[in-house]
Amino acid sequence: MMPAGLAPLIYLVSAALFIMGIKRLQSPDTARNGNSMSGLGMLIAIVVTLLDQQIVSFEVIIAGVVVGGGLGFWMARSVKMTSMPQMVALLNGFGGGASLLVAGAEFLKAGMPNGVPLAIETNITIQLGTFIGSITLTGSFIAFLKLQELMSGKPMTFPLQKTFNALVFLTIAALAVYQVVVPGHQAEIFYGMVGLSLLLGVLLVIPIGGADMPVVIALLNSYSGIAAAMTGFVIDNQVLIVAGALVGSSGLILSNIMCKAMNRSLANVLFGAFGADGAGGSSKSSEGLTVNEVSVEDAALRLAYARLVIIVPGYGLAVAQAQHVVRELADLIHKNGGEVKYAIHPVAGRMPGHMNVLLAEANVSYDQLVEMDDINPQFPRADVALVIGANDVVNPAAHNDPSSPIYGMPILEVENAQSTIVMKRSMNPGFAGIQNELFYHQKTSMLFGDAKVSLSALVSEIKSL
Ligand code: NDP
Repeated sequence: MMPAGLAPLIYLVSAALFIMGIKRLQSPDTARNGNSMSGLGMLIAIVVTLLDQQIVSFEVIIAGVVVGGGLGFWMARSVKMTSMPQMVALLNGFGGGASLLVAGAEFLKAGMPNGVPLAIETNITIQLGTFIGSITLTGSFIAFLKLQELMSGKPMTFPLQKTFNALVFLTIAALAVYQVVVPGHQAEIFYGMVGLSLLLGVLLVIPIGGADMPVVIALLNSYSGIAAAMTGFVIDNQVLIVAGALVGSSGLILSNIMCKAMNRSLANVLFGAFGADGAGGSSKSSEGLTVNEVSVEDAALRLAYARLVIIVPGYGLAVAQAQHVVRELADLIHKNGGEVKYAIHPVAGRMPGHMNVLLAEANVSYDQLVEMDDINPQFPRADVALVIGANDVVNPAAHNDPSSPIYGMPILEVENAQSTIVMKRSMNPGFAGIQNELFYHQKTSMLFGDAKVSLSALVSEIKSL
């Protein structure tokens, strides 16, 4: 055992490392270091906890670390970048499940023959931790199934759904209150409450469209943090309280940022069933409009002699895994005397920071990545805006079509560039399922094909000029 009072002090150091680590995540060039800093904080917290309390034998802990760590390592190595949201969903669910197990174990332990009756405040946190942990577990699992397309991504609705959900919630609340105010151990009531909370997790996520899953995942991430903080109170572990509170608040902030970037309210995401029949449809017809196609040769010429090229990466760049070849193209343009910048929309791709992570993988210099508000005034100066697998984030309907489902969403103002080249495989819509009038503009040329194949062709063409 450690000297009394030392563990909380070291926990304080861990908490400070978490906070400084998160602060460093603000900028891409300090993010890696921030990640390591928070990781170090967690390592210290784990070691202190192990030394401070002999909860279970070290053999069991080591076996858990080997199995869990091995599985985590394998998952992280094998998951595709585009499947990252599913993986985060699954891990959130496990976090919620862990809180449920710890809170449940403490509750059941108190009811054992030699158990110590629970103090009222501990009992309240157990009920809260159990409830939040349970909905996080099943809610995240549904989010995973939807994103992995193992179940339909469409919102699943039924009559009186909200009333039914409210009734389930009220029953859970009544059971929880009963367990707190009526002393004694009621394992059956506890199990009933867990079952209903698990059901509520499913009910809350099924009416949300696959399209909104990333926001839901950020929210569930926040729930898993709150559940962990509750568990921290239950087992009186300060660092768990701090870490849980940090995850809880940052998940909430992230959900809010994503909603703002899509110009939707959180309530609309959670209860609006966006993407259900009728919602999210095309508001304008493309009939009678023509599309200008460009050949690789012409596109290469325009890029090779441009003074400023603004590259707009989107989800399609991630699907095509074209981050390395786009960098090669940018280097060539640069060698020819042109300047290249990347315009980063906050919700381009399928998770926050998706484009930053993708381009960082190809060692694109951070100072070439320009945020939406800073790059928008620069589009009129660009000879070519090169849109690679982006669609919704460059759709001018967000500005000029009040009937569009994305009306009001801030976008990258590509239409103001001198000319635009759009690289995608077809005229298919993007995530929001709507047409994009940018593709029919006079100044826009379409280069059809898989982004990686087209970019490789452009690179070879420019090299041969
Ligand atoms: P979009 O989903 O709007 O469009 C992606 C485009 O990429 C498609 O139109 C598709 O066209 C094209 N594409 C797909 N595969 C390839 C390929 N291999 N090669 C070339 N093109 C390809 O993406 P954006 O990044 O513009 O927008 C992101 C959307 O996701 C927004 O609507 C945003 O609100 C939403 N969203 C994002 C979140 C985030 O955190 N980032 C969270 C929640 C939602 P085609 O099939 O013709 O090739």
